[in-house]
Amino acid sequence: AVPPLLPTVGAGWVVPLVGGRQARSVHLDVAASAPALQRVADHVAAALPAYASVHRGAGYLSQLSTALYEQARQTVGAFVSARADDVVVFTRNTTDALNLLAGAVPGDVVVLDVEHHANLLPWRSPRRPYGARVVRSASTLAATEALLAAELAREPAALLAVTGASNVTGEVPDLRRLADLAHAAGARLAVDAAQLLPHRGFDLTATGADYVAFSGHKVYAPYGVGALVGRRDWLDAAEPHLAGGGAVREVTMTDGGASTTWARSPERHEGGTPAVLGALALAEALRALAETGVDRVRAHEAALRARLVGGLRERGVEPVRIWSDAPDAVGVVSFAVPGWRSAQVAAYLSAEHGIGVRDGRFCAHPLLARLGVAAGDGLVRASLGVGSSSADVDRLLGALDQLLADGPRWTYAADGGSCRP
Ligand code: PMP
Repeated sequence: AVPPLLPTVGAGWVVPLVGGRQARSVHLDVAASAPALQRVADHVAAALPAYASVHRGAGYLSQLSTALYEQARQTVGAFVSARADDVVVFTRNTTDALNLLAGAVPGDVVVLDVEHHANLLPWRSPRRPYGARVVRSASTLAATEALLAAELAREPAALLAVTGASNVTGEVPDLRRLADLAHAAGARLAVDAAQLLPHRGFDLTATGADYVAFSGHKVYAPYGVGALVGRRDWLDAAEPHLAGGGAVREVTMTDGGASTTWARSPERHEGGTPAVLGALALAEALRALAETGVDRVRAHEAALRARLVGGLRERGVEPVRIWSDAPDAVGVVSFAVPGWRSAQVAAYLSAEHGIGVRDGRFCAHPLLARLGVAAGDGLVRASLGVGSSSADVDRLLGALDQLLADGPRWTYAADGGSCRP
Protein backbone atom coordinates (compact mmCIF):
# COMPACT_ATOMS: atom_id res chain seq x y z
CA ALA A 1 0.00 0.00 0.00
CA VAL A 2 1.19 3.52 -0.81
CA PRO A 3 -0.03 6.14 1.70
CA PRO A 4 -0.21 9.88 0.85
CA LEU A 5 3.25 11.43 0.71
CA LEU A 6 2.17 14.73 2.32
CA PRO A 7 -0.98 15.68 4.25
CA THR A 8 -3.46 17.84 2.36
CA VAL A 9 -6.58 19.68 3.50
CA GLY A 10 -9.87 17.90 2.96
CA ALA A 11 -8.38 14.40 3.24
CA GLY A 12 -10.94 12.18 4.93
CA TRP A 13 -13.83 14.44 3.87
CA VAL A 14 -17.04 12.39 3.83
CA VAL A 15 -19.46 13.14 0.99
CA PRO A 16 -23.06 12.07 0.36
CA LEU A 17 -23.74 9.51 -2.36
CA VAL A 18 -26.99 8.87 -4.19
CA GLY A 19 -29.35 6.62 -2.29
CA GLY A 20 -28.52 8.14 1.10
CA ARG A 21 -25.12 6.51 1.51
CA GLN A 22 -21.84 8.25 2.32
CA ALA A 23 -18.19 7.68 1.43
CA ARG A 24 -14.77 9.15 2.01
CA SER A 25 -14.23 11.59 -0.83
CA VAL A 26 -11.50 10.59 -3.29
CA HIS A 27 -9.94 13.49 -5.13
CA LEU A 28 -8.49 12.23 -8.40
CA ASP A 29 -8.63 15.61 -10.13
CA VAL A 30 -5.37 17.01 -8.83
CA ALA A 31 -4.43 18.22 -12.32
CA ALA A 32 -7.37 20.66 -12.27
CA SER A 33 -6.76 21.97 -8.74
CA ALA A 34 -4.68 20.20 -6.12
CA PRO A 35 -5.96 20.34 -2.53
CA ALA A 36 -3.65 22.61 -0.52
CA LEU A 37 -1.04 21.07 1.72
CA GLN A 38 -2.01 21.19 5.39
CA ARG A 39 1.28 22.96 5.98
CA VAL A 40 0.27 25.67 3.49
CA ALA A 41 -3.07 26.17 5.23
CA ASP A 42 -1.25 26.55 8.57
CA HIS A 43 1.18 29.00 7.04
CA VAL A 44 -1.61 31.17 5.62
CA ALA A 45 -3.37 31.19 9.00
CA ALA A 46 -0.14 32.30 10.68
CA ALA A 47 0.55 34.99 8.06
CA LEU A 48 -2.95 36.46 8.04
CA PRO A 49 -2.49 38.70 11.11
CA ALA A 50 0.38 40.55 9.37
CA TYR A 51 -2.30 42.08 7.18
CA ALA A 52 -1.27 45.42 5.70
CA SER A 53 -0.82 46.64 2.17
CA VAL A 54 2.56 45.90 0.60
CA HIS A 55 5.01 48.43 -0.86
CA ARG A 56 2.99 51.45 0.18
CA GLY A 57 2.44 51.64 3.91
CA ALA A 58 5.00 52.91 6.37
CA GLY A 59 3.59 51.02 9.34
CA TYR A 60 5.32 48.05 10.92
CA LEU A 61 2.78 45.55 9.56
CA SER A 62 3.08 47.00 6.09
CA GLN A 63 6.86 46.61 6.24
CA LEU A 64 6.42 43.07 7.47
CA SER A 65 3.95 42.07 4.75
CA THR A 66 6.19 43.68 2.13
CA ALA A 67 9.19 41.72 3.40
CA LEU A 68 7.19 38.46 3.40
CA TYR A 69 5.89 39.13 -0.10
CA GLU A 70 9.38 39.83 -1.46
CA GLN A 71 10.74 36.78 0.36
CA ALA A 72 8.05 34.71 -1.37
CA ARG A 73 9.29 36.06 -4.69
CA GLN A 74 12.82 34.92 -3.80
CA THR A 75 11.53 31.47 -2.88
CA VAL A 76 9.71 31.11 -6.19
CA GLY A 77 12.79 32.21 -8.13
CA ALA A 78 15.03 29.82 -6.21
CA PHE A 79 12.61 26.89 -6.72
CA VAL A 80 12.81 27.24 -10.50
CA SER A 81 16.59 28.00 -10.44
CA ALA A 82 16.10 31.48 -11.85
CA ARG A 83 19.17 33.11 -13.36
CA ALA A 84 20.52 36.52 -12.36
CA ASP A 85 18.63 38.34 -15.12
CA ASP A 86 15.33 36.53 -14.55
CA VAL A 87 12.33 38.28 -13.02
CA VAL A 88 9.57 36.66 -10.95
CA VAL A 89 6.20 38.26 -11.65
CA PHE A 90 3.27 37.15 -9.53
CA THR A 91 0.15 36.62 -11.62
CA ARG A 92 -3.32 35.18 -11.04
CA ASN A 93 -2.53 31.81 -12.62
CA THR A 94 -0.86 30.24 -15.66
CA THR A 95 -3.39 31.75 -18.05
CA ASP A 96 -2.62 35.21 -16.71
CA ALA A 97 1.13 34.57 -16.85
CA LEU A 98 0.99 33.50 -20.51
CA ASN A 99 -1.22 36.47 -21.41
CA LEU A 100 1.35 38.71 -19.76
CA LEU A 101 4.13 37.10 -21.77
CA ALA A 102 2.05 37.36 -24.96
CA GLY A 103 2.07 41.12 -24.49
CA ALA A 104 5.87 41.13 -24.25
CA VAL A 105 7.09 38.80 -27.02
CA PRO A 106 8.38 40.91 -29.91
CA GLY A 107 7.58 38.59 -32.80
CA ASP A 108 5.91 35.41 -34.00
CA VAL A 109 5.26 32.52 -31.66
CA VAL A 110 5.39 28.84 -32.64
CA VAL A 111 3.25 26.35 -30.69
CA LEU A 112 2.15 22.71 -31.01
CA ASP A 113 -1.44 21.57 -31.45
CA VAL A 114 -1.25 19.56 -28.19
CA GLU A 115 -1.46 22.61 -25.96
CA HIS A 116 -3.98 23.63 -23.35
CA HIS A 117 -5.96 26.64 -24.57
CA ALA A 118 -4.00 28.77 -22.08
CA ASN A 119 -0.93 28.22 -24.27
CA LEU A 120 -2.76 28.66 -27.57
CA LEU A 121 -5.22 31.50 -27.32
CA PRO A 122 -3.06 34.27 -25.76
CA TRP A 123 -0.69 34.08 -28.74
CA ARG A 124 -3.60 34.68 -31.09
CA SER A 125 -4.81 37.77 -29.27
CA PRO A 126 -5.92 40.54 -31.64
CA ARG A 127 -3.75 42.85 -29.52
CA ARG A 128 -0.63 41.08 -30.77
CA PRO A 129 0.65 42.43 -34.10
CA TYR A 130 2.51 39.15 -34.79
CA GLY A 131 1.73 35.65 -35.94
CA ALA A 132 0.96 32.54 -33.92
CA ARG A 133 2.01 29.51 -35.95
CA VAL A 134 0.58 26.15 -34.85
CA VAL A 135 2.59 23.06 -35.79
CA ARG A 136 0.76 19.74 -35.99
CA SER A 137 2.45 17.26 -33.70
CA ALA A 138 3.75 13.98 -35.15
CA SER A 139 3.22 10.62 -33.47
CA THR A 140 6.73 10.58 -31.99
CA LEU A 141 8.54 13.23 -30.01
CA ALA A 142 11.57 12.91 -32.25
CA ALA A 143 9.55 13.64 -35.39
CA THR A 144 7.72 16.46 -33.60
CA GLU A 145 11.02 18.09 -32.68
CA ALA A 146 12.07 17.90 -36.33
CA LEU A 147 8.82 19.57 -37.40
CA LEU A 148 9.35 22.35 -34.87
CA ALA A 149 12.93 22.87 -36.02
CA ALA A 150 11.76 23.05 -39.64
CA GLU A 151 9.06 25.59 -38.77
CA LEU A 152 11.53 27.75 -36.85
CA ALA A 153 13.97 27.59 -39.77
CA ARG A 154 11.27 28.35 -42.36
CA GLU A 155 10.51 31.80 -41.01
CA PRO A 156 11.98 33.60 -38.00
CA ALA A 157 10.03 33.40 -34.75
CA ALA A 158 10.69 35.07 -31.42
CA LEU A 159 9.39 32.28 -29.23
CA LEU A 160 8.61 28.59 -29.08
CA ALA A 161 5.95 28.01 -26.41
CA VAL A 162 5.40 24.43 -25.24
CA THR A 163 3.73 22.53 -22.45
CA GLY A 164 6.04 21.01 -19.87
CA ALA A 165 3.62 18.12 -19.37
CA SER A 166 0.36 17.47 -21.20
CA ASN A 167 -2.74 18.12 -19.11
CA VAL A 168 -4.42 15.26 -21.00
CA THR A 169 -1.80 12.50 -21.09
CA GLY A 170 0.85 13.64 -18.61
CA GLU A 171 3.49 13.15 -21.30
CA VAL A 172 6.65 15.21 -20.95
CA PRO A 173 8.69 16.53 -23.88
CA ASP A 174 12.45 16.96 -23.63
CA LEU A 175 12.70 20.62 -22.68
CA ARG A 176 16.46 20.75 -22.92
CA ARG A 177 16.28 19.65 -26.55
CA LEU A 178 13.45 22.07 -27.30
CA ALA A 179 15.42 24.94 -25.74
CA ASP A 180 18.43 24.03 -27.85
CA LEU A 181 16.48 23.90 -31.08
CA ALA A 182 14.68 27.19 -30.31
CA HIS A 183 17.98 28.89 -29.48
CA ALA A 184 19.65 27.49 -32.61
CA ALA A 185 16.95 29.29 -34.62
CA GLY A 186 17.36 32.54 -32.68
CA ALA A 187 14.11 32.03 -30.75
CA ARG A 188 13.43 31.69 -27.03
CA LEU A 189 11.58 28.91 -25.22
CA ALA A 190 8.61 29.44 -22.90
CA VAL A 191 7.24 26.50 -20.92
CA ASP A 192 3.70 26.15 -19.65
CA ALA A 193 4.66 24.23 -16.52
CA ALA A 194 1.17 24.19 -14.99
CA GLN A 195 1.23 20.37 -15.05
CA LEU A 196 4.95 19.73 -14.92
CA LEU A 197 6.11 21.78 -11.97
CA PRO A 198 3.86 20.17 -9.30
CA HIS A 199 5.15 16.71 -10.24
CA ARG A 200 8.77 17.24 -11.23
CA GLY A 201 9.77 20.75 -10.16
CA PHE A 202 11.28 23.01 -12.77
CA ASP A 203 14.82 24.21 -13.52
CA LEU A 204 15.29 27.22 -15.80
CA THR A 205 19.06 26.85 -15.67
CA ALA A 206 19.23 23.12 -16.45
CA THR A 207 16.57 23.15 -19.17
CA GLY A 208 17.76 26.40 -20.71
CA ALA A 209 14.13 27.55 -20.97
CA ASP A 210 13.76 31.32 -21.05
CA TYR A 211 10.32 31.60 -19.43
CA VAL A 212 8.19 29.42 -17.20
CA ALA A 213 4.55 29.91 -16.21
CA PHE A 214 2.63 28.01 -13.54
CA SER A 215 -0.33 28.12 -11.14
CA GLY A 216 -0.37 27.98 -7.34
CA HIS A 217 -3.63 26.03 -7.20
CA LYS A 218 -2.07 23.11 -9.08
CA VAL A 219 0.95 23.00 -6.79
CA TYR A 220 -0.83 22.67 -3.43
CA ALA A 221 -1.48 26.35 -2.70
CA PRO A 222 -4.99 27.86 -2.80
CA TYR A 223 -6.48 29.49 -5.90
CA GLY A 224 -5.66 32.99 -7.06
CA VAL A 225 -1.92 33.14 -7.60
CA GLY A 226 0.57 32.02 -10.20
CA ALA A 227 3.88 33.19 -11.59
CA LEU A 228 5.79 34.03 -14.71
CA VAL A 229 9.55 33.74 -14.33
CA GLY A 230 12.04 34.62 -17.04
CA ARG A 231 14.27 37.00 -18.92
CA ARG A 232 14.03 40.63 -17.91
CA ASP A 233 14.65 42.42 -21.23
CA TRP A 234 11.35 41.69 -22.99
CA LEU A 235 9.40 42.18 -19.77
CA ASP A 236 10.97 45.59 -19.18
CA ALA A 237 10.38 46.69 -22.77
CA ALA A 238 6.70 45.67 -22.73
CA GLU A 239 3.66 47.71 -21.90
CA PRO A 240 2.53 46.95 -18.33
CA HIS A 241 0.28 43.91 -18.05
CA LEU A 242 -1.83 45.73 -15.46
CA ALA A 243 -1.46 49.50 -15.59
CA GLY A 244 -2.12 51.31 -12.35
CA GLY A 245 -0.72 52.03 -8.91
CA GLY A 246 2.53 50.28 -8.20
CA ALA A 247 3.39 49.80 -11.88
CA VAL A 248 4.65 53.35 -12.32
CA ARG A 249 7.72 55.23 -11.24
CA GLU A 250 6.27 58.63 -11.97
CA VAL A 251 3.21 60.22 -13.55
CA THR A 252 3.28 63.88 -14.50
CA MET A 253 0.48 65.93 -15.94
CA THR A 254 1.29 67.57 -19.25
CA ASP A 255 -0.71 69.97 -21.41
CA GLY A 256 -1.92 67.11 -23.58
CA GLY A 257 -2.64 64.63 -20.76
CA ALA A 258 -0.31 62.64 -18.52
CA SER A 259 3.19 61.32 -19.04
CA THR A 260 4.11 58.08 -17.35
CA THR A 261 7.42 56.49 -16.54
CA TRP A 262 6.74 52.83 -15.86
CA ALA A 263 8.56 50.89 -13.16
CA ARG A 264 10.92 48.02 -13.96
CA SER A 265 9.67 44.47 -13.77
CA PRO A 266 8.27 42.86 -11.71
CA GLU A 267 6.42 45.94 -10.38
CA ARG A 268 5.77 47.07 -13.96
CA HIS A 269 3.38 44.15 -14.46
CA GLU A 270 1.86 43.91 -11.00
CA GLY A 271 -0.30 47.05 -10.91
CA GLY A 272 -2.75 47.19 -8.01
CA THR A 273 -2.60 45.44 -4.66
CA PRO A 274 -1.20 41.95 -5.15
CA ALA A 275 -2.49 38.65 -3.75
CA VAL A 276 -0.03 38.69 -0.88
CA LEU A 277 -1.46 35.68 0.94
CA GLY A 278 -1.51 33.79 -2.32
CA ALA A 279 2.16 34.52 -2.89
CA LEU A 280 3.03 33.41 0.66
CA ALA A 281 1.00 30.24 0.19
CA LEU A 282 2.68 29.48 -3.11
CA ALA A 283 6.12 29.98 -1.60
CA GLU A 284 5.28 27.71 1.33
CA ALA A 285 4.02 25.00 -1.02
CA LEU A 286 7.25 25.19 -3.03
CA ARG A 287 9.32 25.02 0.18
CA ALA A 288 7.39 21.90 1.18
CA LEU A 289 8.05 20.24 -2.18
CA ALA A 290 11.72 21.19 -2.08
CA GLU A 291 12.11 19.86 1.47
CA THR A 292 10.28 16.64 0.62
CA GLY A 293 12.47 16.27 -2.44
CA VAL A 294 11.18 16.39 -5.98
CA ASP A 295 12.61 12.90 -6.54
CA ARG A 296 10.41 11.47 -3.78
CA VAL A 297 7.38 13.25 -5.25
CA ARG A 298 8.20 11.74 -8.62
CA ALA A 299 8.67 8.23 -7.22
CA HIS A 300 5.40 8.43 -5.24
CA GLU A 301 3.43 9.46 -8.30
CA ALA A 302 5.19 6.98 -10.57
CA ALA A 303 4.16 4.11 -8.25
CA LEU A 304 0.54 5.27 -8.20
CA ARG A 305 0.47 5.94 -11.93
CA ALA A 306 1.80 2.45 -12.67
CA ARG A 307 -0.88 0.94 -10.41
CA LEU A 308 -3.60 2.97 -12.15
CA VAL A 309 -2.42 2.32 -15.71
CA GLY A 310 -1.85 -1.38 -14.98
CA GLY A 311 -5.31 -1.65 -13.42
CA LEU A 312 -6.96 0.08 -16.34
CA ARG A 313 -5.23 -2.19 -18.84
CA GLU A 314 -6.33 -5.27 -16.90
CA ARG A 315 -9.87 -4.01 -17.43
CA GLY A 316 -9.39 -3.44 -21.14
CA VAL A 317 -9.09 0.33 -20.83
CA GLU A 318 -6.07 1.89 -22.59
CA PRO A 319 -4.91 5.39 -21.56
CA VAL A 320 -4.49 7.78 -24.49
CA ARG A 321 -1.05 8.93 -25.63
CA ILE A 322 0.27 11.59 -27.97
CA TRP A 323 3.78 10.31 -28.62
CA SER A 324 4.87 6.67 -28.84
CA ASP A 325 8.43 7.51 -27.71
CA ALA A 326 7.66 9.84 -24.77
CA PRO A 327 9.41 8.89 -21.53
CA ASP A 328 7.56 8.32 -18.24
CA ALA A 329 4.60 10.65 -17.85
CA VAL A 330 3.43 12.58 -14.78
CA GLY A 331 0.38 11.40 -12.84
CA VAL A 332 -2.25 12.43 -15.36
CA VAL A 333 -4.13 9.60 -17.10
CA SER A 334 -7.00 10.02 -19.60
CA PHE A 335 -9.10 7.22 -20.98
CA ALA A 336 -12.43 6.19 -22.44
CA VAL A 337 -14.50 3.38 -20.91
CA PRO A 338 -15.91 1.23 -23.71
CA GLY A 339 -19.66 1.51 -23.88
CA TRP A 340 -19.95 4.66 -21.78
CA ARG A 341 -19.74 8.38 -22.43
CA SER A 342 -17.09 10.12 -20.35
CA ALA A 343 -19.68 12.44 -18.78
CA GLN A 344 -21.66 9.39 -17.62
CA VAL A 345 -18.59 7.70 -16.18
CA ALA A 346 -17.60 10.83 -14.27
CA ALA A 347 -21.12 11.38 -12.96
CA TYR A 348 -21.36 7.74 -11.88
CA LEU A 349 -17.99 7.83 -10.10
CA SER A 350 -19.03 10.91 -8.16
CA ALA A 351 -22.61 10.01 -7.35
CA GLU A 352 -22.16 6.34 -6.48
CA HIS A 353 -18.58 6.28 -5.19
CA GLY A 354 -17.59 9.78 -4.07
CA ILE A 355 -14.72 9.83 -6.57
CA GLY A 356 -13.94 13.15 -8.23
CA VAL A 357 -12.38 12.91 -11.70
CA ARG A 358 -12.51 15.26 -14.65
CA ASP A 359 -14.28 14.56 -17.91
CA GLY A 360 -14.62 16.45 -21.16
CA ARG A 361 -12.17 17.97 -23.59
CA PHE A 362 -9.82 19.49 -20.99
CA CYS A 363 -9.42 22.92 -22.63
CA ALA A 364 -7.33 21.16 -25.26
CA HIS A 365 -9.82 20.88 -28.09
CA PRO A 366 -7.26 20.57 -30.93
CA LEU A 367 -5.52 17.74 -29.06
CA LEU A 368 -8.74 15.85 -28.35
CA ALA A 369 -9.65 16.11 -32.04
CA ARG A 370 -6.17 14.86 -32.91
CA LEU A 371 -6.61 11.90 -30.56
CA GLY A 372 -9.77 11.04 -32.45
CA VAL A 373 -12.26 11.90 -29.72
CA ALA A 374 -15.50 12.80 -31.49
CA ALA A 375 -16.81 16.35 -31.15
CA GLY A 376 -19.33 16.44 -28.32
CA ASP A 377 -17.62 13.55 -26.55
CA GLY A 378 -14.63 13.61 -24.25
CA LEU A 379 -12.40 11.47 -22.06
CA VAL A 380 -12.22 10.67 -18.37
CA ARG A 381 -9.12 12.00 -16.64
CA ALA A 382 -7.76 10.76 -13.32
CA SER A 383 -4.83 12.68 -11.90
CA LEU A 384 -2.59 12.07 -8.92
CA GLY A 385 -0.45 14.09 -6.55
CA VAL A 386 1.37 14.02 -3.25
CA GLY A 387 -1.92 13.63 -1.36
CA SER A 388 -2.98 10.59 -3.39
CA SER A 389 -2.71 7.02 -2.14
CA SER A 390 -3.00 3.49 -3.50
CA ALA A 391 -6.36 3.31 -1.69
CA ASP A 392 -7.59 6.14 -3.95
CA VAL A 393 -6.47 4.30 -7.07
CA ASP A 394 -8.06 1.06 -5.85
CA ARG A 395 -11.36 2.82 -5.16
CA LEU A 396 -11.42 4.01 -8.77
CA LEU A 397 -10.56 0.59 -10.17
CA GLY A 398 -13.21 -1.06 -7.97
CA ALA A 399 -15.82 1.44 -9.15
CA LEU A 400 -14.90 0.72 -12.77
CA ASP A 401 -15.26 -3.01 -12.10
CA GLN A 402 -18.78 -2.41 -10.88
CA LEU A 403 -19.58 -0.22 -13.89
CA LEU A 404 -18.25 -2.78 -16.35
CA ALA A 405 -19.86 -5.77 -14.65
CA ASP A 406 -23.25 -4.45 -13.52
CA GLY A 407 -23.62 -0.95 -14.97
CA PRO A 408 -24.58 2.03 -12.81
CA ARG A 409 -27.46 1.79 -10.35
CA TRP A 410 -28.69 5.20 -11.47
CA THR A 411 -29.05 6.77 -14.90
CA TYR A 412 -26.75 9.58 -16.03
CA ALA A 413 -27.22 12.04 -18.88
CA ALA A 414 -24.84 11.63 -21.82
CA ASP A 415 -23.92 15.29 -22.25
CA GLY A 416 -20.78 16.97 -21.03
CA GLY A 417 -17.63 18.29 -22.56
CA SER A 418 -17.76 21.90 -21.43
CA CYS A 419 -14.44 23.60 -20.92
CA ARG A 420 -13.44 24.39 -17.39
CA PRO A 421 -9.75 24.90 -16.54
N1 PMP B 1 -1.78 24.85 -18.89
C1 PMP B 1 -2.02 23.59 -18.55
C2 PMP B 1 -1.16 22.51 -19.12
C3 PMP B 1 -3.07 23.32 -17.67
O1 PMP B 1 -3.35 22.06 -17.34
C4 PMP B 1 -3.83 24.37 -17.14
C5 PMP B 1 -4.96 24.13 -16.16
N2 PMP B 1 -6.06 23.43 -16.62
C6 PMP B 1 -3.52 25.67 -17.52
C7 PMP B 1 -2.48 25.87 -18.39
C8 PMP B 1 -4.28 26.83 -17.03
O2 PMP B 1 -4.10 27.00 -15.67
P1 PMP B 1 -4.94 28.08 -14.90
O3 PMP B 1 -6.37 27.70 -15.07
O4 PMP B 1 -4.49 27.95 -13.50
O5 PMP B 1 -4.61 29.39 -15.50
